[in-house]
Parts: sequence; C-alpha cells; structure tokens
Amino acid sequence: MVRAAVLSAPGESLRVAELDLPEPGPGQVRVRIAATGVCHSDLSLARGTLRQAMPVVLGHESAGTVVSVGEGVASCAPGDRVVLCWAPPDGTCWYCLQGEPWLCETSSSAAGTPYATVEGQDVYPGLSTGGFAEETVVSERAVLAVPDAVPLEHAALVGCAVMTGVGAVLNTAQVRAGQSVLVVGLGGVGLSVVQGAVLAGAGKVIVVDRSPEKLALAMSMGGTDALEAGGELAKQVRGLTERRGADHAFDCVGLADTIRSSWSATRRGGMTTVVGIGGKDSQVSFSPLELFHFARTLQGCVYGSTNPLVDIPKVLTHAAEGRLDLGALISGTVGLDGIDGAFADMAAGRGARTIVVP
Ligand SMILES: [Zn+2]
Ligand SMILES: [Zn+2]
Repeated sequence: MVRAAVLSAPGESLRVAELDLPEPGPGQVRVRIAATGVCHSDLSLARGTLRQAMPVVLGHESAGTVVSVGEGVASCAPGDRVVLCWAPPDGTCWYCLQGEPWLCETSSSAAGTPYATVEGQDVYPGLSTGGFAEETVVSERAVLAVPDAVPLEHAALVGCAVMTGVGAVLNTAQVRAGQSVLVVGLGGVGLSVVQGAVLAGAGKVIVVDRSPEKLALAMSMGGTDALEAGGELAKQVRGLTERRGADHAFDCVGLADTIRSSWSATRRGGMTTVVGIGGKDSQVSFSPLELFHFARTLQGCVYGSTNPLVDIPKVLTHAAEGRLDLGALISGTVGLDGIDGAFADMAAGRGARTIVVP
C-alpha cells in the first residue's frame, strides 16, 4: 500500500487514501516519487474542463527513483534516478513515423486503463502518470534518466512545464538569436518560455502578467521589459520594437482575448504560438483583410513539439550545466494533503510552480 491523493469525480476535493499498487508487469517500471509539480492541466482535469477517467490519481510532472522493474525492462534498473514523461510516444504510429511524436496516437492510452485500486475500486493514472502518490507504475517508455547534477525536485518540472515552454521556443517557434519575443502569462510554462527565449539568444524578451511578483521573477530570469496585463498590448509592444511589433509571441494563458492580443502585438510576418490550453466555448476572430495584410502565423503547440527521447535529455543537460534555472521556477512545496490549496493558488494566479513532495 502507498499513500495517494485520489479524486473521485470532477469538482470534488482530493482525498488522501491508501492505494493498492500492483507490482510492475512486463515492460513496466515502479517508481518512488520524489516530487510532482502541480500543473494547470491537473486543475483542468480536476474541474472536468479536460477529460480523464475517474477515480484518478492526478499529477503528471514527476521525478523519482526506480523501485522495481517488470519482465523485459532493460533501459533502467532499481535505484536509477528518473523523470517521467506523461506522453511517451510509441515510435510506430503514423505521427511518430512522420517525425511528430508529440502527436502520437497512443501516447496517452495508459490514462484510460486502471492501474491500481483503492478499497477494491479501480483507479486510473492521471495523464498516464499518477504522480500525486508515494509511488506509481508506468510504462518503461515513460521513464528517462536524470543526471546526478540535477535534483529530482527540479527534474520533475521537465516532465511537463519546462519541456512545454522551452520546446515551444526551440522546437515549435524556432526562435532565432536576436529576435524579439513576447511572453503572455507567467506561470510555470510561461516562465519556462522566458528561460527558453534566453537560451535561444533572443533580443528583447517582453513579459506580461497581472501579477507584479511574477513579472519581477520573469525579469530575474532574463526578461528585458515587463508589462502589467490590462493595457493596450499591441501599442505597448510596438513602442518597444521600433514600431513594428514582436517577431514572436507566446500565449501561455489560452483565453480568446490573450490569443487575439498576442497576435496583434506581433509584427507583419510575425508568429504567435499558443501554448496555453483554452476552453471549447469561446472563439477567436480575425478579419479576412487583416489575415492577408499582416501575413502573420498563428499556431497551436502540443507539449512543446517535443520528442521526449531526444529533447528531455537535452533540457536536463542545459539544467545540469546551468543554462536553465529550474529551481527558480519553484515557489512552494506541499504534501499530498496540500494539493487543493495549490489548485486554489493557481486559479488565483498566485506563485509560479508548487511541487508536491509525497
Ligand atoms: Zn502539465
Ligand atoms: Zn506514435
């Protein structure tokens, strides 16, 4: 038995319970969780905005130590320090063969299969990971080694926020050295976009949020200009970019309003990458004439267009060698009984990333 925070239905509170976790089967690995970041997607899953089979153990941004391995597992062994990937590609589907493993057709299939029980009732692993627990069992493909120089509490964030944000800059938008970058929304993902932009050698890195604390944090990570949300964004950004607008914008909020204003704040021919996950009930509108005239690009971004096998080790190396400051993203630490509080902080826009240490 291990302790886990279990959600029975959307909208309810999490409940700490004893999870009966079976030993890993063929191709599976059992991991003792050192830390799990609280991601906005967990909040969306808990509220029912994103779908997930329930009851569920949420948490999909985890790192820990391998406890035991199932039959045929050769890529890791007990005692290994690992980060978990919530979307491990199969390498064989149409999208994987196209070189787009972040769109893999089966990468999230484990989330729909019960992996443990609580009081005899089946429980599902949130986003295939089940990180809000002392231990979990995942596919061998979801487990990647962490270098000794990176603490597991930092490595956990690479599983989702950091890979999404840094990947959005380096893989999806492919920001070039000297280009101007606008980052709207400075949670764990937005701050990772800021660090990714600095890594890419961006010129100006203009940061936008409604929280002065988060603006200050983003400036300490390499932001060059801070704008409090609520002003005329396009005009403010043109004022900082020789009247043109930014080369790149990253919307890390996902609201129709922030997507539209990010797009308007880019230059003619500029590119907006939507990293935030929005709802299905709002619409973003553009006039046909402005689409032609501004010749801008608006693109979606799933998991930072990440090839986990290649990109997660690369990002961990950047952290090990000091080019990414993952510790600076962590604004609080809670136990399994503190996750509802972390959700409330996130909904109110307080703090950067909270980690759960079970
Ligand atoms: Zn996430
Ligand atoms: Zn695939």
